[in-house]
Amino acid sequence: MADYMHLCLADPQYGYYQTKNAIGTSGDFITAPEISQMFGELIGVWCIDMWNQLGKPAPFTLAELGPGKGTLMQDLLRSANLAPDFLNAMNLVLVETSTAMRKTQAATLAKVTKPIHWQSEINTLPAQPTIIVANEFLDVIPFRQYVKTEKKWHERGIAVDGQQNFVNATLANSIGPEMLPEGSDDEPDGSIFEISPAREAIVEMLDNHIATNQGAALLIDYGHTKSGFGDTFQAMQDHRYVDPFTTAGRADLTSHIDFEALGKVTSQTSMVTTQSEFLIAMGLLERAGQLGADAGPITRDTLQHAVDRLAGADQMGSLFKVMCLHSNGLNPPGFGVNFDE
Ligand code: SAH
Repeated sequence: MADYMHLCLADPQYGYYQTKNAIGTSGDFITAPEISQMFGELIGVWCIDMWNQLGKPAPFTLAELGPGKGTLMQDLLRSANLAPDFLNAMNLVLVETSTAMRKTQAATLAKVTKPIHWQSEINTLPAQPTIIVANEFLDVIPFRQYVKTEKKWHERGIAVDGQQNFVNATLANSIGPEMLPEGSDDEPDGSIFEISPAREAIVEMLDNHIATNQGAALLIDYGHTKSGFGDTFQAMQDHRYVDPFTTAGRADLTSHIDFEALGKVTSQTSMVTTQSEFLIAMGLLERAGQLGADAGPITRDTLQHAVDRLAGADQMGSLFKVMCLHSNGLNPPGFGVNFDE
C-alpha cells in the first residue's frame, strides 16, 4: 500500500502532485487555506506569538511542509506585516517535492521580499530556532494497512488480477499484538488496522529538530485522537471519492492521521485539539467580524459560510485536528481546552 501510494503521488514523471492541478475549485479538492484567508492569517498570529515566546530569535526559520498553492503562507505573511521584526528575522523555507507545485508557490508568493528557500527534505532544515506549519501534509505521506485474517493481522498489499486490474491482496507478514490498540482480539475477520511509520518518522524528526534548536510545529490534518480500527484509505478526484485502484496517478490518495500514534514518538510536549477549538481560540469569529464590519451582505455571507466550513462540527471543525509540538517553556495559544475524543 505504501509503495503504491508513493508511486501514485510522487513519481517524478507520472506522480499526481507533479502532473495534476490538485487543489482548488478547478482541481480535485479544497483545503482550509483555499476556503478563507482567515485560516492562514490566524496561523500567522500563532507563529508570531511563538516567535515572541521564543525570545524573538534572529535569524529563525519559518518552514511550511507541503505548501500547496502557497495560499496559507501568503495569508500568514499578511499577519506578519504587523510584526516587521518577525519578517526581518525570518528565513523562509518551503518543503516541497513537486516542481510543478513549487512554480505555483513562487507565483503566489511573488511579492514576498525575503528570499524563499525550497527544499525537498525535512531533515535539511537549518540549525536555528524553527517554527513549522503544515496543513494536509501528513495525509499524503504513505501508510500501511493490516487486515485481520483468521485471527492474525496480515499486511495488505496490492496485486494485479487476470484482467490487469489492481486488487487488494493479503501478504504473509503480520503485525505483533504489542503494535495493536486495545480491543484487537474482539475485532472480526476483515477488520483493518492502519499504521504510518513514515509519518511517525517525520514527526520524530521535527520533534528532534525543535528539541535541539528550539521552536514549535503546528500540524493540521484530518484524523483521530485515539488509535482504532477501520479503513480510511481514500482517493479524491474532482471533489468526489473515487476508486483508488482505477485512478492511479490521477487522484489524490490519503488516509486519516492517527494522532495518538504520532504523540507517542514525541519526546517533548505535544498537544492535540480540534480545528474548531483552535481557530475559535485564535480569534476566528473576531477576525470574521472585523472583515465583515464595513462589507456588504454578499461578503458577510461568504465570511459566515467560511466560518461554518472551517469550524462547524459537521464540516471541518471536528474531523480536522491541530497538533502542536514545542520546545520546553512555551505556552502555545489555541490549545486552552483539553480535548479528548
Ligand atoms: N498545505 C496545502 C497543500 C496540501 S496538498 C493546502 O493546505 O492547501 C499536499 C502538498 O504536499 C502538496 O503541495 C504536495 O505537492 C506536497 N507534497 C506531497 N508529498 C510531499 C513530500 N513527500 N514532501 C514534501 N511535499 C510533499
